[in-house]
Amino acid sequence: MDRTWITTKKLGDPEYEAGVMEFIKFALENNTEGRDKLPCPCYICQNLMYHKADVILNHLSKRQFDRTYTCWHRHGEKREETPSKDAQGHNTEGDRLEDMMSQFV
Ligand SMILES: [Zn+2]
Repeated sequence: MDRTWITTKKLGDPEYEAGVMEFIKFALENNTEGRDKLPCPCYICQNLMYHKADVILNHLSKRQFDRTYTCWHRHGEKREETPSKDAQGHNTEGDRLEDMMSQFV
């Protein structure tokens, strides 16, 4: 799914508007628990405030979408990168440390 509109498009841009609609659709489709309110990803609420879908839509048509929120994990999207990063994190860190050390030797 194309999420470039979050970081590259501004309010009022047709691609931004289309992206917002896509987001709302995504959020509602993944609202399997039938929650009344969902986290709002506008740059002020930053998923910390919960609102009804129509309020979120309202926010996102007036405020910029949170540009760091490109993986919609708060709205039912699976974070595929996280487990592999955790599993390999220590190794990568270790390698990097060894690289750094070898520069000093
Ligand atoms: Zn909001």
